[in-house]
Amino acid sequence: MVDPDCLFCKIVKGEVPADIVRETERTLAFRDINPQAPTHVLVIPREHHRDAVAAAIADNGLLDEIVREAHQVAEAEGIAETGYRIVLNTGPGAGQTVFHLHAHVLGGRGLNWPPG
Ligand code: IMP
Repeated sequence: MVDPDCLFCKIVKGEVPADIVRETERTLAFRDINPQAPTHVLVIPREHHRDAVAAAIADNGLLDEIVREAHQVAEAEGIAETGYRIVLNTGPGAGQTVFHLHAHVLGGRGLNWPPG
């Protein structure tokens, strides 16, 4: 499924440019336009799902693939050993602004807990 008004669907279709770092048949990973850490990559499914919960309900295995891809990104960025953060903002109250599932992969600096 594709949402013609969705920014990340447009990135998947190549209608909006992105700094792509990894691709699989079902996923895409590209650098966040407003990075919050030395490594800040978004891993998304090509198919449109509004958030992680919707994807988990609709597509068994897709979230697993997103997490595996997040780790591949971390390996490629050299942050897998030190540690990194995978963030799935879910809903506006949690800061989700783009309603196409995306896993933030953040690392390359100290990450505080609790997050802001
Ligand atoms: P959210 O706040 O969890 O929904 O994250 C959305 C993320 O998408 C933010 O970190 C934005 O900086 C990022 N973003 C928005 N537009 C673009 C774009 O065109 N390319 C790459 N990242 C984007």
